[in-house]
Amino acid sequence: MLTIKFGGTSVGDGHRIADVAKIVASLREQRGAPVAVVSAMAGVTNRLVEAASTAAAGDGERYRAIANALWVQHEAAARACLPESLQADVLREIRRQVDLLSSLCQSIHVLGECTPRAMDLVSGLGERMSVRLVAGALAGLGVPAEPVEACDLIITNGRFGAAEPLWEETRRRSRERLLPLLERGVVPVITGFIAATPEGVPTTLGRGGSDYSAAIIGSCLDSEEIWIWTDVNGVLTADPRLVSNARTLPELSYIEAAELSYFGAKVLHPKTMLPAIERRIPVRIKNTFEPDHPGTLIVAEPRPSRHVVKAITAIRDLTLVTVEGRGMIGVPGVAAKVFGAVAREGVNVLMISQSSSEQNICFVIPREATERAVQALRSDLSHELARRDIERVEALAPVAIVAVVGAGMRGTPGIAAKAFGALARGGINIIAIAQGSSEYNISFCVDGERMAEAVSLVHDEFDLGTPNGAM
Ligand code: ADP
Ligand code: ASP
Ligand code: MG
Repeated sequence: MLTIKFGGTSVGDGHRIADVAKIVASLREQRGAPVAVVSAMAGVTNRLVEAASTAAAGDGERYRAIANALWVQHEAAARACLPESLQADVLREIRRQVDLLSSLCQSIHVLGECTPRAMDLVSGLGERMSVRLVAGALAGLGVPAEPVEACDLIITNGRFGAAEPLWEETRRRSRERLLPLLERGVVPVITGFIAATPEGVPTTLGRGGSDYSAAIIGSCLDSEEIWIWTDVNGVLTADPRLVSNARTLPELSYIEAAELSYFGAKVLHPKTMLPAIERRIPVRIKNTFEPDHPGTLIVAEPRPSRHVVKAITAIRDLTLVTVEGRGMIGVPGVAAKVFGAVAREGVNVLMISQSSSEQNICFVIPREATERAVQALRSDLSHELARRDIERVEALAPVAIVAVVGAGMRGTPGIAAKAFGALARGGINIIAIAQGSSEYNISFCVDGERMAEAVSLVHDEFDLGTPNGAM
């Protein structure tokens, strides 16, 4: 049995949904009923977040306009992908979700704040609408299908916005609910992204989290494979929006895919690989716009490739924070203090580097966390700053992290030198460097404005645009 997931672009309008239904129907013919996990229609989650945020900020109009636009969008999709006989039922259900959005936003507006808990409830409404459209489109093709809300299946802790599954309970509930449907040949169409606590309070797995939903469900059902259907031909050697000659990677290892997603390849949510690795379930990335393209297969041991470096990724909108001072030399505990302050603020540190003279520590954080992090540092290090042991705490933005990823890099000398040489020739300054202890990646920090250029230069240097290039 397969677990298959369709992203936002794949269900972007009624015609796309009709295409998705055809893909599901044909897979069911070939391999028995799959489990389908579905994202919200493209752009919907962003608009839901905007509705809640603007309502919290005192705007009583914007959320109404958004609710209206979402209704229009889903109604048009329903008219395009459902037979007339099914439209009324599905639209009634969608109307309920749109009305729920309005009333939630009204409360948020009155309260003047949107708690993480409320945000999870609002931002998950898109999936609750899209599953109805996909299940309806399947029924229209004569394929038995049932929309299922993942709140009944994926049970998580209460970490709103980045909830983690409680595995035993999730496995039990998923099997109990889904296996009987599959036995009868019914395709469950499950909401991606959302889940709930054991008490039934809605949570989300984080933005882009539908991939993770599919991996969780796939693992709990011991699926043969997990297929992530998206809008590109698999995992490419770089983001095709940045590098025009990026090429599909036919096979990748779990570790390479995990590193790629962690360092910014949006095609996979960073947590997707974990459940797959544990149960050694192969993951395929496929293109709904080109269903016959083989895409990328991710397994434990891929066929050997001539390429030592597999792909170049990038993360944008970051800040480099530098803590510097001569008084830091040989003084134990400064690093602990620095990272303690940042951790207390809940700020995610993406990269750390320390100069060998110990005169400075620098690290990279999301740009939106700059204020919080710098304030926490200045307050926790106020003594050291007053004594001038630490001379400055400084933030530089925007910066980007560019990462060179590939399992074959381990034990292959000269990779860093080659990448840095290419950047130097392009006149791009490397602000900081870090090598993961895994040796499956080397990442470096560059001026955010030159990120795309840096990715292209390194991509060309390793000849990644040609299948049998040198490295
Ligand atoms: P979905 O809505 O299907 O989840 P996403 O937009 O989340 O799709 O992810 C797919 C996008 O990821 C692609 O359109 C592409 O621009 C981007 N991307 C970034 N890096 C890569 C890469 N290395 N390979 C493929 N796609 C990538
Ligand atoms: N709809 C959610 C988001 O936009 C989850 C996903 O698409 O994977 O983040
Ligand atoms: Mg995605």
